[in-house]
This record gives sequence, structure tokens and C-alpha cells, in this order.
Amino acid sequence: MKIFSCLLKGKPIVGIRISEKSFNLSKILQSHIAPKLPDAVASDLKSLLENGILAPTVFAKLDKLFKAGKLSKYAISEKSVKYLPPVKNPSKIIALGRNYAAHAKEGGLPVPDEPIIFDKLVSSLIGHKENIVIPRWVKTRIDHEVELAVVIGKKAKYVTAEKAYDYVFGYTIVNDISARDMQTDDLEKSLPWMRSKSFDTFTPAGPYVVPKQFITDPHKLVISLSVNKEVRQNSMTSYLIFSIPQVIEFITKHFTLLPGDIISTGTPEGISSIKEGDLVEATVGGIGTLINPVVREK
Ligand code: MG
Repeated sequence: MKIFSCLLKGKPIVGIRISEKSFNLSKILQSHIAPKLPDAVASDLKSLLENGILAPTVFAKLDKLFKAGKLSKYAISEKSVKYLPPVKNPSKIIALGRNYAAHAKEGGLPVPDEPIIFDKLVSSLIGHKENIVIPRWVKTRIDHEVELAVVIGKKAKYVTAEKAYDYVFGYTIVNDISARDMQTDDLEKSLPWMRSKSFDTFTPAGPYVVPKQFITDPHKLVISLSVNKEVRQNSMTSYLIFSIPQVIEFITKHFTLLPGDIISTGTPEGISSIKEGDLVEATVGGIGTLINPVVREK
């Protein structure tokens, strides 16, 4: 099963994909799982997580309803929806730098001793099929970075690696778009590299969040990216230097993670530049393919 956020006839809903069919999960929850659920909660993934509505037992109930043919009246066509970022309004997006050794090497940088974390502004989020917009005044290199991302399911502080999966809701795809030359210049001046990572539209995410119980091992997924159908990145999440539990332990030593927060776990080697007119397709096995065209700001 896969979850997505979208506009259906202009209204936000949460959708679910089961056996290649898509349904209005917001309506199913209100009709079969939580009858008094307000529309504002039912239609927003972060609110559903905050209210503990998407517990693992819910997916077993949904499976029963599906197999009994009781979901057909909630069927929707994903062709008619406008995708939103899987979580529209997380409290934060934390990204990992240099979390694959081969990527550290291509940047001419050492493998870190502990996770390198940075913040990407929430306002940079866009959904599947939305445009990555290169700012009109930025003429230097802009890169793609496909990453496996974690969506947090419940409030987490001082979580040990052993308990970390208890706080994970599921997994999605992030393309950590980076104004590379600007980042390098800022780093050389010992300045933060935040601005190069957080331009509007520089965090495409989605299309789906796969709940953790449907991903046997998030460290055994194929991760790849193509530009105009030419493969640029192709690796496995098994090469992550710091595993998802280690990263959660490290982050929650510093900050409280909240339901819906996104952790983007870093990119493998093969980063390269993108330009106006390109079509970028970021794939993580078992999750899907996040597709975004590149345009230049007018
Ligand atoms: Mg990155």
C-alpha cells in the first residue's frame, strides 16, 4: 500500500494505492475507520499522523475492506489529480550530507565520522510533476540529488537506534536540488550552505509514502535518477554510511522530530547538472518514481 497527497477536483485529499488501484483514503477513513474525523484532519497526512489515525492495524482493516470489494465506491483515477508533496507542511526537513562514500569521493571530500545534517526550508517543497524552477538570476550549476527519505510518524526525542523504527511512519523520495556552485562558494567562505538548497521548488518529494510495514528493509532498495531518460545516478541504499536508525538517534539528540517531519538520507554518486527543458525522474525501488520538469523563472 502507498499513500499520496493530492488535489482532487481542487480539494485536498489523502489517497491510497492498493494493488495498482487508487482510492480516496480521506473518505474511507471517515466512513469505515474514524466516523467523526473532521475533513481538515482526514484530508491532511500530517494531521492524520498527529492524531494517530494511520496505526499499522488500520492497514489490515483497509486490506480486508479492499478484498471484500467495499472500496470500489471510493476509487479515483490518479490521472485526474494534482499531486501535492506527500506531507504538505512538515515542521522541518532535515537532510544528510555525504552519507554515501562514493558521493563524498566525487565531491573530493572525506567520509564523515558522524552524520552531517542540514535544514531545507519547508517552503521549497513541491509535489510529483511540479516544475523545478531555476531562479532567473542563478546562471551557475544546479544539480539533482535523488534520496530515500523518511517520514516521521510520532514525536521523537532522545530515541535510541534500537527503538528508531517505532517513530518511522514510512518512506518517500526526495530530490535534493542544489545550486552547486553557490554551495561550494559559500562553503569555501565558511558560510552556511542553506540558501543553495532551499530555493522555492528545490525539494521535490513523493509521489508516494510507503508505510514502513510494506518495506522489508529500507537499506536494500535500488536508488536511481535519470535526466531525459539518461541514467545519471544508480546505486543501492545499502551503501548508506549512517543507517536510518543511527540518523534518527543522532538527530533526536539535538531536535525533537514531529509527526510528518522529513529526513532525507543523502544522495549516492552520480550528481550532475540540470537545465531548463530537462525532465528529471528519481526512483527508489518499492516506492515509485518522482518526475519533475525543469524550467527557468521568467
Ligand atoms: Mg542531498
